[in-house]
Parts: sequence; structure tokens; C-alpha cells
Amino acid sequence: MDGNALAARVRAEVKEEVAQIGELGLATILVGDDPASGNYIRRKHQAALEVGISSTDIRLPAETSEAELLERVEALNEDDSIHGILVQLPLPDALDPARIVRALDPAKDVDGLQPLNAGQLYLGRPTLVPATPVGIMALLAAYDIRLSGAKAVVVGRSDIVGKPVAQLLLRQNATVTICHSRTRDLARETLDADVLVVAAGHPALVTADMVQHGATVIDVGMNRTDAGLVGDVDAAAMDIAGHMTPVPGGVGPMTIASLLRNTVEAAQMRARSFAFPCD
Ligand code: NAD
Repeated sequence: MDGNALAARVRAEVKEEVAQIGELGLATILVGDDPASGNYIRRKHQAALEVGISSTDIRLPAETSEAELLERVEALNEDDSIHGILVQLPLPDALDPARIVRALDPAKDVDGLQPLNAGQLYLGRPTLVPATPVGIMALLAAYDIRLSGAKAVVVGRSDIVGKPVAQLLLRQNATVTICHSRTRDLARETLDADVLVVAAGHPALVTADMVQHGATVIDVGMNRTDAGLVGDVDAAAMDIAGHMTPVPGGVGPMTIASLLRNTVEAAQMRARSFAFPCD
């Protein structure tokens, strides 16, 4: 499954929508100097600029206090030129991510982590959904993968990938199993999957013999190893799967494209009604 090609299509669509809307602003806050986080932020800003979204890159020192960070978030909430806000996680240990994310205006929360958005997703209501799951669902739709009645297995239960993608698969009438580090027999679960989404952060956690013949495999993992960037699924599974995303070139580019889409969505939601839509 070619994430680069689909992401290019999504970015082109977003670019057209941005041109129609006019001014659009995405702001990110990065606290500390984690190099991986800095790299993600750089790629997000570059992608935003390419589709005509202006971006505000706020970098704060690792010793920033919670009060200072909350003040920054509040200022962006109030700023009408900003349509999307993203606080790059993880935050330094002294800062409580739950409190910071809760302070975001839910209508600008392009990462879909604010509790109102997470709750709306849980309830099956329209809302801002984390970008990686949005990108995964777009890939499944683009390749006409049947989800209704399918057995979907999600490995990983993070707030940013595992849990929201499980909700979206459920919304499409899949029968969903969520596996995690305490799952007793992972292979037994994955072998049952018509659609397998793996987001665990362990290279080759899922080997070819753990994949059902013809299954659709979405490899979310991004692990830097001596052999370069690898996913959570052994590349040999490509021969067993009916469809599979490569790493790199699968979910990664779709995440960035979906963040841009979310920024447009946030702006459109604000334009439709000044309050956060509950229906
Ligand atoms: P995380 O790192 O917060 O948590 C890992 C999850 O995997 C946990 O829920 C844990 O229970 C589960 N897990 C760990 N070991 C396991 C095992 N042996 N068996 C079964 N489950 C196990 O999760 P995350 O933030 O969703 O990240 C997961 C991976 O996805 C990482 O490699 C991350 O870099 C990558 N990621 C990629 C993108 C992208 O755009 N491609 C986006 C987000 C995350």
C-alpha cells in the first residue's frame, strides 16, 4: 500500500481547500530539545507551508513551567489567526501532558487528544481524530479493504494510535480486538486478523508466521535500527499479506497529510458554527 502516493493526493486536495478558505494557521509547541520530536515538527511545518498553511513554531526550554506552558496554549486558543494547535508529545517529565492537552481549545486540537474530542470519537460523533488513525482509515478506504464484519486486530493501545484506530474500525463495523503488552498469546490473536494494525514500537514484533494469508497489514511502527528505519512487522510478511504498508512510505506520510487535513477540518468546523459542534 503506497502511503507516499496517497499522501500526495491528500496534500493536493488540502492545498486546493486551503486556497479556497484563504488564511489558515497551524501552531506547534515543542518543549525541550528531543531530536526525534524536533525532526517530526520540522516535517510538519514543511508540509504545512507546501499546502499554503502558515505555521508558527514555538520552541520552549525543557525547564518551562506548567503555568508558562498553559499561558502559551491559552494565547493560541485566543488567537483568531491560528486554526490548529499541536503540543508535541512526549513532554519533559515535570509537565503533566493530561493537564496541558485538556487546556487546548477542542476546536483547534488537531491531534484529537483533548478529552472532548476523544469522548466524541468514543461516542461515534464527528470530531477531530488523531492524524495517524485518520491516515490509516484513508489507506484502507483507498484500497477498498472491506471492514464491515471483518476481524480487525490492533496491536498497541496508545491514546494517539491504538485506541482511536480501534474506535474507527468499530465505527466501520469491524469486530475489533485490541492487543497490548500483557496479551497472553499475540500470534493467536494476529493470525485471526483480516485487518491487522500494529503500533507497538518493537522491530519485527509481528513475524510472517503471525499473519493470516491475504490479510491487510498496517505497520505503524517507526523504529530506528542499525539497518535504518523499520516497522513493527517483519518485511517478510509482505509475501503472506494481501495488502501491506511498507516502512518507510506507508503510514508515516499519511500521518502528516492527515494533520494538514485536520487543520482544514478545524477551520471549517469553526466557520460553520462558533461553538464546538456536538452533532
Ligand atoms: P506507545 O509507544 O505509546 O505504546 C506501545 C504500545 O504497544 C502499548 O500500548 C503496549 O501495550 C503495546 N506493546 C508493547 N509491547 C508489546 C508486545 N510485546 N505485544 C503487544 N503489544 C505490545 O505507542 P505509540 O505511540 O502508538 O507508538 C507505537 C509505534 O508507532 C512506535 O514505533 C511509534 O514510533 C510509531 N508511530 C508511528 C506513527 C507514524 O506516523 N507512522 C505515528 C505514531 C506512532
